[in-house]
Amino acid sequence: MQKLEQLYEGKAKRVYATDDPALLIVDYKDDATAFNGAKKGSIAGKGIINNQMSNRLMHRLEQAGIPTHFVQELSERETLVKRVEIVPLEVIVRNLAAGSFSKRYGIEEGTPFEAPTIEFSYKNDALGDPLINDSQLLAIRLAKEDELETINRYSFRVNELLRAFWAECGVTLVDFKLEFGRLADGTVILADEISPDTCRLWDSATGKKLDKDRFRRDLGGVEDAYAEIMRRLCEHDR
Ligand code: UDP
Repeated sequence: MQKLEQLYEGKAKRVYATDDPALLIVDYKDDATAFNGAKKGSIAGKGIINNQMSNRLMHRLEQAGIPTHFVQELSERETLVKRVEIVPLEVIVRNLAAGSFSKRYGIEEGTPFEAPTIEFSYKNDALGDPLINDSQLLAIRLAKEDELETINRYSFRVNELLRAFWAECGVTLVDFKLEFGRLADGTVILADEISPDTCRLWDSATGKKLDKDRFRRDLGGVEDAYAEIMRRLCEHDR
């Protein structure tokens, strides 16, 4: 597989063309941003951890019947993925109140929910990724009705699978963000990444935050937390 020209550089990843038009190479960086790019920094080794963690989790999801873009890990930081057209939505699933949810509704962080919730943001940096509801996202044609149904179904299933898996590792899956994409034939599959950058992961025993909130909130021990969560995953996923 030949790595060709860079197609895109995002906040945490670069994307390259390959000699197969249906496949891309993703290259994970150590760069970290928060608050829509207002806070910038770097987390040493993050790219390696996010690459490897995302691949392991996507592989497990795939085995459990969720189609994903994952094809093959090529190196510490590089992965071969299926080319998709990204559905411009950030899909957020929550099990406990935290972050923007806690702020918006005045609910203390860590408050468990009666049932998991789902919400959507319109992926648009210039607008600051505004929240959008089902009827609105259908109205402006961000997704079709059947695609939205698939995204909802997959997202709650991913939550069940990941929550159970992280529980085995002694970790509480508080919330996470997913992105979906369309293959050339229109099939909707899971894309982007699943990592401590995109999930809130708390030690089940101590409540210690083992995710990007350590960076966002200047809690210190960022690199150690990423290494710790990766170690937890590896111990349970041999
Ligand atoms: N999230 C993400 N990218 C974003 C916004 C949120 O990966 O642009 C993840 C975040 O890591 C958390 C979940 O989505 O696991 C819910 O985030 P929230 O809406 O609470 O936003 P935040 O408080 O991070 O601004």
